[in-house]
Amino acid sequence: MTEQRWGDGHGTGLRDAGEQEAHAWRELVATARRTVADGLVVGTSGNVSVRVGDTVLVTPSGVPYDRLTPDDITGVGLDGRQVLGTLVPTSELPMHLAVYRTTDAGAVVHTHAVHATAVSTLVPELPLVHYMAGALGGPVRVAPYATYGTEELAGNMLRALAGRSGCLLQNHGTITYGATLDQAFDRTAQLEWMCRLWLTASSVPGLTPSLLSPEQLAEAQERLRGYGQRR
Ligand code: 13P
Ligand code: ZN
Repeated sequence: MTEQRWGDGHGTGLRDAGEQEAHAWRELVATARRTVADGLVVGTSGNVSVRVGDTVLVTPSGVPYDRLTPDDITGVGLDGRQVLGTLVPTSELPMHLAVYRTTDAGAVVHTHAVHATAVSTLVPELPLVHYMAGALGGPVRVAPYATYGTEELAGNMLRALAGRSGCLLQNHGTITYGATLDQAFDRTAQLEWMCRLWLTASSVPGLTPSLLSPEQLAEAQERLRGYGQRR
């Protein structure tokens, strides 16, 4: 349970952050900074969110991540109403909330990563060049273009996400979700890497990359369930 203490925001519908929310905010800011440090985002493009109980902490709109302090915590309910902070939440609230309302996601990462965005302008689905598509639930679809920040874009995204934990947004970027900020971030990094791989392989004149069959992907996907260290 999240502690609820009524503070300065009393009367405005705002409340003070609990311990768990303050901790999650620090992790969110660190993840947002990583998107810039790793070249997945330039400037204030992209946004990050994390769920703490019924509250969704989000990056504020248009604020450089290196300027964010613990006091800038920004949180909304699943209905989009602001419950924490006074900075305007990310303009992509409709996409983030659509993911939380329809999945058990713990965190969402949206970027304008360059190779992924390039691929989004070329094909309706990222060709199966690598088995890591299995880590995102299968072949990664491209959601048809709609203006940023709209419910229309959120709807297109949800359809492209069916059975997947990530998709491309046509002429826009990427969106992935995961149980944790680390997992959501890692899926974005893998997706960008796979897009870069396909662009690299398909840009050799006179040659066409080989692709995996659905059966080969299914086999890898099954194996990925046991990937890594056993606990
Ligand atoms: P925000 O700064 O409002 O999060 O917007 C960035 C973005 O990527 C919009 O698509
Ligand atoms: Zn964007």
